Amino acid sequence: MTVVVQARDLRQVYKIRRGFFKPPAQLQAVGGVSFTIEAGKTLAVVGESGCGKSTLARMVALIEKPTDGTLMLDGSDAVNTPGDDKRRLRQAVQLVFQNPYGSLNPRKKISAVLEDPLAINTSMSKAERGERSRAMLAQVGLRPEYANRYPHMFSGGQRQRIAIARALMLNPKLLVADEPVSALDVSIQAQVLNLLADLQDEFKLAYLFISHDLAVVRHIAHEVLVMYLGHVMEQGPKEDIFARPAHPYTQALLASTPGVAGRNVQRIVLKGELPSPLDPPSGCVFSSRCPYAVERCRAERPLPRPIENRIAACHFADQFLESGFPAVASVDNASLPG
Ligand code: SF4
Repeated sequence: MTVVVQARDLRQVYKIRRGFFKPPAQLQAVGGVSFTIEAGKTLAVVGESGCGKSTLARMVALIEKPTDGTLMLDGSDAVNTPGDDKRRLRQAVQLVFQNPYGSLNPRKKISAVLEDPLAINTSMSKAERGERSRAMLAQVGLRPEYANRYPHMFSGGQRQRIAIARALMLNPKLLVADEPVSALDVSIQAQVLNLLADLQDEFKLAYLFISHDLAVVRHIAHEVLVMYLGHVMEQGPKEDIFARPAHPYTQALLASTPGVAGRNVQRIVLKGELPSPLDPPSGCVFSSRCPYAVERCRAERPLPRPIENRIAACHFADQFLESGFPAVASVDNASLPG
């Protein structure tokens, strides 16, 4: 088992200006997230937009420095490493973005798109760079002669294959993929997900896969981390979480995605909008939308704790795991211990 990424209590807090006479507000975008990703494995981070998953991706991709916490990448401290070591770490982690149309420079031929990272970071000759870019195109299922074409000459799926090829040019250990297939047609999504799975097997890549789509996550993930308002709600092996969620928010996400929920399919419809991260609910951050919330939930924040083989942040997770989720209409809140 080779650990590629180890994050401990990663936090990101932004200061938001509120005018000349008011002190800045604090927005906690990520409030203490821990995980490990091994070589050849995928951790999928799921949640609604605004839950902090993209901020987490930017911290792991070394685009943003965390406010607090530790991040070990390929055996080195990625937060405090200076100079050349940081450069090595930046090569070890690469990004694949959501939008295959916007992520490639329309004025550059594909050969330049693929060879630029090599020209900047290695001493390879022009001929060697050309050979590697053509080999990488073949690796992602495109013809090597496409290197002489421009991005506008390709479909969305082909462009995402090119973006993946570019990300692999420097032999990274980790790919951070932020909604990499959500802009593609469903039929093309499956092809790109299969390509990512094949590349992971071949190169033993670790993936941090950000998605709001549980059908996609079911296809690609080994581990799942469910976030809400910057906090971990539930985290564990994909099979267990999909078959028997322990947190009402996970259950609500699963129930809203056709065809992915296991036997425990009680439908939970979320009330209201996602609260503002500038003014999160007291106690459990999910309490303003949770149909099972009781007084204790609003008074006491449930910390993530181990239950069976996962982690869940809910006062009643053991109960939900053991007996399933009660029908929402029958919850009088007296059925849960306050
Ligand atoms: Fe719902 Fe309470 Fe559990 Fe939070 S702690 S998820 S409000 S039941």
